[in-house]
Amino acid sequence: MPDHRTLGRALNLFDTDPLIGAGLPFWLPDGAAVRQALEDYLRAAERRAGYHHVYSPVLGKRELYEVSGHWRHYRDEMFPPMDLGGEQVVLRPSLCPHHALMFRSRAHSYRELPLRIAESGGMYRSELSGVLGGLTRVRGIQLNDAHIFCTPEQAATEVAGALAMIADAYAALDIRAARYRLSLPGPGGKYVAAAGLWERSIAVLTAALDDRGLGYDAVEGEAAFYGPKIDVQVRDSAGRESTLSTVQVDFHQPEQFDLRYTGADGVAHRPVMVHRSIIGSVERAVAHLIECHGGRFPAWLAPTQVVVLPVTEAQHAAAARFERRCRDRGLRVASSPPDRGSLAARIREHRLVPYQAIIGAEEVAADGVALRLRDGRRLAVLPAAEALDRIGALLAVHSAALWDVS
Ligand SMILES: [Zn+2]
Repeated sequence: MPDHRTLGRALNLFDTDPLIGAGLPFWLPDGAAVRQALEDYLRAAERRAGYHHVYSPVLGKRELYEVSGHWRHYRDEMFPPMDLGGEQVVLRPSLCPHHALMFRSRAHSYRELPLRIAESGGMYRSELSGVLGGLTRVRGIQLNDAHIFCTPEQAATEVAGALAMIADAYAALDIRAARYRLSLPGPGGKYVAAAGLWERSIAVLTAALDDRGLGYDAVEGEAAFYGPKIDVQVRDSAGRESTLSTVQVDFHQPEQFDLRYTGADGVAHRPVMVHRSIIGSVERAVAHLIECHGGRFPAWLAPTQVVVLPVTEAQHAAAARFERRCRDRGLRVASSPPDRGSLAARIREHRLVPYQAIIGAEEVAADGVALRLRDGRRLAVLPAAEALDRIGALLAVHSAALWDVS
C-alpha cells in the first residue's frame, strides 16, 4: 500500500502550504469530490436510520468544557483559550457538549426517545507540529458525529444499530476492519471517577458486540475520559493500527449537564448518551481510502466516474453530447479528445477512472457507447441511455462492483 501523502499529492486530492500551517490541509477539487460523496452517503444513511441533522458552533466558552470535563481531562489536546471581552472562548475539542445543550434546550418526553442527533462538524486538536502530516494528524478535524439520547433500556439496541451502520459503510467503501477493540479505562487520573457507571456502560457495549457475533479484544487505557468505547480499528500502509469508527455509552455527561426526560410515570429521568461515529473524521477516512484503494476508489466515490474518449475528431460532437448526458445525470465526467494522444495512451492515462466511454464511428451510428471498465473488461456496445441507466443504478446502491454480472 502506498502512503496516502504521496498519492494524495500525485492525484491532486489535497495539499498543504507552510503559510497556512502544519496540520491544516486544503482539499483540491478531486479530493473535495471524494469527500462530498462520502458525506452525502453518510447523511443519507443517517436519514434512513432516523437521525436528525443539526449544526452547532465550533467555538464555546471555557466554562462549557469545564462542565463537560474536557477542561480537566483533555486540556493538553485543546487549543489555548482566546480572551474575548472578559471571557475565554476555545475551539471545541468535541461536539458532545454542544449536542448535550441542544437536548437540554427543549423539554423531552420518553415518547421522543431515542432521539438521534447527527452533525458533520469541525473540531480542533492542538497536535504538535512534529507529528503532523497528510490527513491523519491534523489540527482541524471534520467529524462524522452523532449523539443518541435514549433510556438505559434502549442503549444496547442503539449501539447494535450503530455497529450495523458501520458494517454497511465498510461494505460500500470496500474496506475491512482489522479488529474490534473494547476500550476500557486504565490506571492514571484521566478518567472520571464513577465506578458503577463504567460497569453499566461496559455491560451495554459487550452485549451489543455479542449480539452481533463480533469478536473483540478488551484493551485497558484506551477509553474516553467519560466512558468505555467500542473502537473499530483499521491498519495503514505501514501496518500501524488506528481507530476509524467508534461507539460509546456515556452515563457521565448526562449527569454533568443535568439532562432529563419525562418518563411514562410522569417523573423526570436521566437519559443515556450514545456517542457514535461511522467513519470518524473525514480526513482520516479519506487517507485510509486512498491507501486501501491506491486511488482506485469505488465508482460512487471516484473523483471522475466516467471519461469520454472519442476515437477520432469525427466523433467530437457525439462525445460532447454523451458528456452532457452524463453531467445531466449527476455523474462526475471528464473528456479526453484525440489531440491528447492515441486511444491506448488516453486509456492508460485515465486508468483510475471506473468507466471509460469509447465513442467511434460504429458507436455514433448506433447512438451507443463502448464501455471499458477500470478492471480491463470491455463490454459490447450499448445504447447510451442503457449504459447510463446501468451505471446510475450501481452508483445509487453504492456498489463496490463496477458492473453487475447479468
Ligand atoms: Zn460525543
